[in-house]
Amino acid sequence: MKINKIYLDMDGVLVDLVESAVKVLSITEQDVFANPNILDEMGVWDMLGSNIDWWENLLPYEWKDDLINACENIATTYILTAPSKTATGSVTGKLLWIREHCPKMFKESRFIITNQKHLLANSSSLLIDDTSRKVEKFIINGGSAILFPQMYNTKEGNRPFNTARELIGYLQNECSG
Ligand SMILES: [Mg+2]
Repeated sequence: MKINKIYLDMDGVLVDLVESAVKVLSITEQDVFANPNILDEMGVWDMLGSNIDWWENLLPYEWKDDLINACENIATTYILTAPSKTATGSVTGKLLWIREHCPKMFKESRFIITNQKHLLANSSSLLIDDTSRKVEKFIINGGSAILFPQMYNTKEGNRPFNTARELIGYLQNECSG
């Protein structure tokens, strides 16, 4: 069946969360590469969950607009992002980020904030997410999903693209083809 909705993850897909998190924790991006769970283990979400400014001021990746445009040319596209489990500040910060960096999606209410992404899975929906277990859960629940390539998911078996640009090229071809 044809895809008619695309769900784009924020953290690690549109937003460079690692770059800002390593500064707060005084570690390096290589540390995250060596241990993808290090941010969880160091309690970064407890530390930053209530810090609205931190979430609002995270930098977008340089490919953010190209990725969104490629998706929008295929199907109606929504941001689908999970809140910090321990504090509510991330929700406000994320909304402010979307308003600033994706004003059209904000204006059209094309964003969903939930920890239950798999509930949106069906035969015509596609999730693009950098977390392997979320990709798998979405597929198990009947959706299509692509693991967004990141330095911390290189060892995942379900990683079809090596770079963000490779994935964007694939999506652009999908549209023209
Ligand atoms: Mg993510």
